Amino acid sequence: MARVLGSASDTDATLRYMREALKMAKQALEADETPVGCVMVHQGRIIGRGMNDTNRSLNGTRHAEFQAIDQVLKTRPPSVFRDTSLYVTVEPCIMCASALRQLNIQSVFFGCANERFGGTGGVLSIHSDPDIDRPFAAHGGWLREEAIMLLRQFYVQENQKAPDPRVKKSRELKTEILPVTPNAAIRGPMV
Ligand SMILES: [Zn+2]
Repeated sequence: MARVLGSASDTDATLRYMREALKMAKQALEADETPVGCVMVHQGRIIGRGMNDTNRSLNGTRHAEFQAIDQVLKTRPPSVFRDTSLYVTVEPCIMCASALRQLNIQSVFFGCANERFGGTGGVLSIHSDPDIDRPFAAHGGWLREEAIMLLRQFYVQENQKAPDPRVKKSRELKTEILPVTPNAAIRGPMV
């Protein structure tokens, strides 16, 4: 699914930024959040970082993308998004894809698809549907396996905490299916 870009240096840069996004996802995992992380890149510079923060904040809208958007807007005007790309470990959900389009984001690179809530092709195609806002390009499959592995680690971690053995058993079964259908890793809490 990874799109081949114009040159090897484009690919190298994309992978470099995706690795930075994965670092944020690892921080989320360490904080017991669903491991999704992202960076915003403008003219070759990372200008915002975000990780999923819904559990700590008790706010279901605190997705990694919104964290990064807030960070960018602390020091820059909204017009900066026109020339900014987002690199995120999991496909943006419908809510985030809509926000990104309203902000006029240039493009989005993501790791694994979000089959349950994806807004850039996973479920809906918010990025490209006819609308008054400029569409944005979305490229999936970048370091996809690493992104899925983090999600898998998260569900295993959650299983170990589950006090009810019956629930635990069913969750274990779910993780065992993952190698066959890796995208099932993101079925669960909204990411
Ligand atoms: Zn989202």
